[in-house]
Amino acid sequence: MTAHAPIVIDNAKLNEALQRFPCDRRMWIDGREAAGDGDMIERRSPAHGVVVTRVPRGAAADARRAIAAARKAFDAGPWPHETACNRARVLLKAADLIDRDRELLATIDTLESGKPITQARGEVEAAADIWRYAASLARELSGDSYGNLGANRLGIVLREPIGVVSIITPWNFPLLIVSQKLPFALAAGCTCVVKPSEMTSGSTLHLAGLLAEVGLPRGVCNVVTGYGPEVGAPLTTDADVDMISFTGSTAVGRAAMAAGAATLKKVSMELGGKNPQVIFPDADMDAALDAAAFGAYFNAGECCNAGSRLLLHSRIAEEFLSALAERAREAKVGDPLDPDSRVGAIISLEHLTRIEGHVQAAREAGAALRIGGERLGAHGLFMAPTIVERVDPSMAIAREEVFGPVVCALTFDTAEEAITLANSTSYGLSASVWSRDIDAAIGVGRGVRAGTVWVNTFMDGAPELPFGGYRQSGVGRELGRNAVKDYTEEKTFHVHNGPRTSWWLPRGPARDQKIGSRGTAS
Ligand code: NDP
Repeated sequence: MTAHAPIVIDNAKLNEALQRFPCDRRMWIDGREAAGDGDMIERRSPAHGVVVTRVPRGAAADARRAIAAARKAFDAGPWPHETACNRARVLLKAADLIDRDRELLATIDTLESGKPITQARGEVEAAADIWRYAASLARELSGDSYGNLGANRLGIVLREPIGVVSIITPWNFPLLIVSQKLPFALAAGCTCVVKPSEMTSGSTLHLAGLLAEVGLPRGVCNVVTGYGPEVGAPLTTDADVDMISFTGSTAVGRAAMAAGAATLKKVSMELGGKNPQVIFPDADMDAALDAAAFGAYFNAGECCNAGSRLLLHSRIAEEFLSALAERAREAKVGDPLDPDSRVGAIISLEHLTRIEGHVQAAREAGAALRIGGERLGAHGLFMAPTIVERVDPSMAIAREEVFGPVVCALTFDTAEEAITLANSTSYGLSASVWSRDIDAAIGVGRGVRAGTVWVNTFMDGAPELPFGGYRQSGVGRELGRNAVKDYTEEKTFHVHNGPRTSWWLPRGPARDQKIGSRGTAS
């Protein structure tokens, strides 16, 4: 058994990274940088402990100014009426600038969130790709037409932008998650107010600067920073907001949805998950072990898609857990700026304490630790990759989202049992099934109530494929070919062509015609 290598922080690398971007940031409201009332929120790197960024602590008044700017930009144009060609051009230019600033954006996300730099670079590349995909959908957006309603009737269904969209994002994938929403809303012709997590606002603010650079008209994309109850809440209640696109915890999502209900806002909710990885004895064990480790410890497990529940066939459970423990020890936990690190720091002390509380509660309920559970390093918020075994489906650790580098293991004997276990939480975001018997794998996949099912792979994604949850994992889908349509309203045009006569209170020869023959009487 290998022990975790000590955590070594490279201070020279840290100082070089800190030089790449300014520490003090401003909000973006109505095409200009806005300082707020001077109160700032300091963000310290959870790995290094040093101040990385300071963002304004926005107030409700800032949120209202941003909403008013978005409303004006929507009602007065020109963005909602811009041609698809021009909207796509702006999105494509933005993608190019995201690529240009890849290193800077990745460094901001790494320092603010604690995620490994290699991973952050990949997220920036994925974000740019999503902006390009949204540009392609902007050109594809169309409605329907009906020429089969009779010789004198024509039905046309237009797709119009829904209006002002509030985009509220969490801290775990700062640039990637805003990129799963904003470019599609812009492609539809909407105007937006974005509120990132106060801990990871840097890359979203930089993105707003890039959008100004590519010529997005003022007021179309506004970014307000600060705490959820102060600056986020008005984005869910203001009557001038037409839609809420929220990613975050199920609890806050539920509250945002309830707040928006008073003015009947459309909502799109991407929420939590407790995602099962179902492993059958005939699986490719090497690949399944790699995916199990990746699923549990990628982004330090702070991932809605984390494969945080291992459902192992009882025949292989012991062998699998012992091999997984070995791999978990090999995963380098360390300085997020080190390109070899696989697991970075936990987002905050408060969150690390919460993760430890979940592990402690599991032990008190009768579960056992196979490995991990402890903090690593003298400084920084690092936690050892953890496996909790002897878990019963009724335990909280098997049902609640831990959002840390903690995987729990349960066993099954039949496919039916695996499906029942997989569906035994209130979530339904994703699942994976590992078996060389493709009939068995697809059978289980079809029985699982989740928005995404991976078969013999894990956490693959593409902008072409819709993403979202069943049950309390969310409402609606992001990405996929309908991603721009989600930000539109349908307007039905009913057109009468050719000669017309009155039919309800008929005049002249038409008087004898029966009411109800509307489709043919004219
Ligand atoms: P939270 O739900 O705590 O916060 C999400 C966002 O909502 C933050 O910007 C937060 O602001 C804001 N917010 C908080 N209170 C309010 C309010 N009253 N009104 C409006 N906005 C508010 O989630 P976390 O940031 O802690 O992220 C972790 C959670 O997100 C996990 O549970 C995870 O499963 C989920 N998640 C889901 C994903 C998915 O696609 N399904 C993807 C990524 C994460 P502030 O931070 O300033 O308080």
